[in-house]
Amino acid sequence: MRHASIISFIQSLYGAKEVPLHAPVFLGKEEAYLRACIDSTFVSSIGEYVTRFEQAVAEYTGAKYAVATVNGTAALHTALRLAGVDAGCEVITQSLTFVATCNAISYLGATPAFVDVEEARYGMDPDSLARFLRTRARREGGRLVDRYSGRRIGAVVPMHTFGHPCRIDEIADICEAYGLPLIEDAAESLGSLYKGRHTGRFGKMGIFSFNGNKIVTAGGGGVLVTDDEALARRARHLTTTAKVPHPYAYIHDEVGYNYRLPNLNAALACAQMESIEKIVANKRETARRYADFFAEIPGVRWVDEPEEARSNMWLNALCFHDPQEAEAFLAQSNAVGVMTRPVWRPMHRLPMYADAPAQALPVTEKAAKRLVNIPSGYRSGA
Ligand SMILES: *Cc1c(COP(=O)(O)O)cnc(C)c1O
Repeated sequence: MRHASIISFIQSLYGAKEVPLHAPVFLGKEEAYLRACIDSTFVSSIGEYVTRFEQAVAEYTGAKYAVATVNGTAALHTALRLAGVDAGCEVITQSLTFVATCNAISYLGATPAFVDVEEARYGMDPDSLARFLRTRARREGGRLVDRYSGRRIGAVVPMHTFGHPCRIDEIADICEAYGLPLIEDAAESLGSLYKGRHTGRFGKMGIFSFNGNKIVTAGGGGVLVTDDEALARRARHLTTTAKVPHPYAYIHDEVGYNYRLPNLNAALACAQMESIEKIVANKRETARRYADFFAEIPGVRWVDEPEEARSNMWLNALCFHDPQEAEAFLAQSNAVGVMTRPVWRPMHRLPMYADAPAQALPVTEKAAKRLVNIPSGYRSGA
């Protein structure tokens, strides 16, 4: 049976009967940095590892500025707020994403509006975005308004699904033409380049996640990147309770957030950043093995990176032609401890976003019943 052969291939690839979907690996100085951080007593929101981590991410991505936060959701919340998204606004994103994308929009009292993803890589489809704006957007005294909902359109948030870059240059051009701020949810795509440029760097701001299931981790953490000095300064201010710099007085000049990444998490993340290229190379090698194997398996398509991009190959995905096959494979693989997961339930199918404005979403609907993520962690044997 086809499913049994896929499962045994995964087991042989990882040299184990039970295989997690994704597990963090600690290949370098993690313990040494954590120990040094504890010894310094600076384990909380002040300390040199936070600055070092920010520098490492800025250097790695090519961004001018990086601001560390407690998680990726907080980074996205901050970025949206700095882009001017406010209550009553609409923010265009994709329905096929992790719920954090939409939650960050909702925290500001704004509403997500959904466009479709591309069949090939499941990132935002620029054609669907263009159609949304062509059919719904109208200028009203300098504001871009959704003519059906009456709301101001405040920003566009594409997501690089599973680490595969979407056609972000085309999306950037569309945003530019409409004067819309582009904020990339690059939570899954640290290490992924589109036409040689790091994801997260095509718009006003981009965000990365360092959660435990991402390509490298801070335990929990996030980073906002930008090339705009004023935005970076605002981001740092807002995420540190809007405290005005002063040697000892507590003065805050607006309502800020307690979003600063603790030094302890940054210590872990500094060590992880030193291994990221090794981890990306390892995962890309695993992806090649999957590509070769699935080329011979009928009824299923393994999701490859775009030709013009380098994906970090964070999470491998299979698209089953028949939804019942996907169901059967999920049941069979999980029953033997080979962890596989269906793609997220699309956002427009969740109760809180069911009434959100949306384009036709045929690819999203199709993917929701057919896309399955398979084990993609670092392979020590490779
Ligand atoms: C992981 C993730 C986030 C949020 O990151 P956290 O660090 O878990 O808050 C946001 N968007 C997407 C698409 C993600 O996968």
